[in-house]
Amino acid sequence: MKFCQPHWDALREAIELRGLGHLIAANGREAAARTVADLTGDDDLANYDPLMDVHWMIASRAMGVFGIAALAAGCPVCELLRALPSPPDGFRYATNEQYLIDGPADAVQQYCIEHGIAQPLGSRDL
Ligand SMILES: [Zn+2]
Repeated sequence: MKFCQPHWDALREAIELRGLGHLIAANGREAAARTVADLTGDDDLANYDPLMDVHWMIASRAMGVFGIAALAAGCPVCELLRALPSPPDGFRYATNEQYLIDGPADAVQQYCIEHGIAQPLGSRDL
């Protein structure tokens, strides 16, 4: 499972648009170290990475839809877009791509605000 470059760029942009870009790991090595910390229970809010969190949310969604086959498939966003033609009812996203990318990005933004590691956009000027 590897995100295609356009969808990886869209995920990064979605995180940056929500004012969370400063929390993204500086490089692949740091991201890998954070993932290891997450898996071993050594993670904390100081090394929380919203980009990796949305990555895992989407990967988990793909696993829920495709099962273990998702691991051998291509970009999970591309695969989910092919399998799910429109967003589920009751969500505010107009397109399935927005549902798949903005939905997790909105969730991590809310998580960061609730845990005090990010401020709501616009609040810095108050
Ligand atoms: Zn893709």
